[in-house]
Amino acid sequence: MHKSTRIIHSIPVDELTGSISVPIYQTATYVQEAPGVNKGYDYARTNNPTRAALEKIIAELEGGTYGFAFATGLAAIDAILKTLKSGDEIVAVDDIYGGAYRLFTHIYQKFGIVIHYVDTTDSSNVSAYLNENTKLVWLESPTNPTLKISDIKAIAEMAHKVGALVVIDNTFATPIAQNPLELGADYVMHSGTKYLGGHSDLLAGLVVVKDEKLAEELKFIQNSSGGILGPQDCFLVIRGIETVAIRVECQCESAVKIADFLATHPDVDHVNYPGLKSHKNHEIAKEQQNGLFGGMISFSLKNDTEEAALAFVTSTEYFKLAESLGGVKSLLCHPSQMTHKSVPREKRLSSGINDSLIRLSVGIEAAEDLISDLDQAFIKAKGLK
Ligand SMILES: *Cc1c(COP(=O)(O)O)cnc(C)c1O
Repeated sequence: MHKSTRIIHSIPVDELTGSISVPIYQTATYVQEAPGVNKGYDYARTNNPTRAALEKIIAELEGGTYGFAFATGLAAIDAILKTLKSGDEIVAVDDIYGGAYRLFTHIYQKFGIVIHYVDTTDSSNVSAYLNENTKLVWLESPTNPTLKISDIKAIAEMAHKVGALVVIDNTFATPIAQNPLELGADYVMHSGTKYLGGHSDLLAGLVVVKDEKLAEELKFIQNSSGGILGPQDCFLVIRGIETVAIRVECQCESAVKIADFLATHPDVDHVNYPGLKSHKNHEIAKEQQNGLFGGMISFSLKNDTEEAALAFVTSTEYFKLAESLGGVKSLLCHPSQMTHKSVPREKRLSSGINDSLIRLSVGIEAAEDLISDLDQAFIKAKGLK
């Protein structure tokens, strides 16, 4: 069965009414027959049928068993971190999402969690940091915004040898291109704000696991800390998931064309896109991403200055200047001044975030229109300087 058929039919028809869309249960509590005698629902932080439907759908989509929906991607990351205790160590990909870096370094470090940022694009770099205190290996593949690829299978094997669990932030790849649990990861998480929601109109976070013990722990944390996703937004994520396969396939196809265009443009210094043969881990990406290389691209300019990048990002028409990604409308951003501003400049430069780096989120507009938009922006930007 094609993935999109499976996704559409994983969304349940309401048993009570036959409603073809999942009902929004906008309630805080549930009436009980006698104390503790209820229909499986007692308070909406603990359980909500709309959220339960989303959690089941995302679990299935990622090939896992248990799903959890949180208010934002960072709330989902926070819930996973709460499984740790003081003295535990994390090995994390070095150009991790800026918000995750802020949470790890500025909040969890002060509770005694030790974090090692490592270039995980060479699996062999990881082993030096693994020891009996390592509890999590935290990967993004592709990473944000430099689209680095790590070998999930190889790193999971190494991590498991010391008893560490592996988390994959699968936001960029999406469940359409990559299913980390099948590659040996223990947790997969998403910012549902991006491709799963797909329309830049909500914030959401999702976690999926296979293991029942991990699920019990996450359920306990979700209920104890309370960072759940509300029913209206659960409904919207479900609606986004209905079209995620068709959107992502279109975005990936256009991104390949746009990356090819950029790679030969005289004003471009280099292009980061896992679909290009020149990408360091192109072969690994091909293998672990079902031949889909994603809808995100970043590139830097020959004139590697902030000024040149700012002229470019204010010269496009269809690519709107905004943070976030993964929606139907194309977006672009300047990571060093926007998404990655909280990362110190030396750290940015060492992980490949040049002053002129520009990140594209390819939408579902026609690829040729997006290419002509970029083409005119190169010309216009030169005139602005
Ligand atoms: C956006 C994003 C997050 C955080 O998600 P929010 O929904 O904004 O909290 C985490 N990881 C990646 C890779 C992201 O792009």
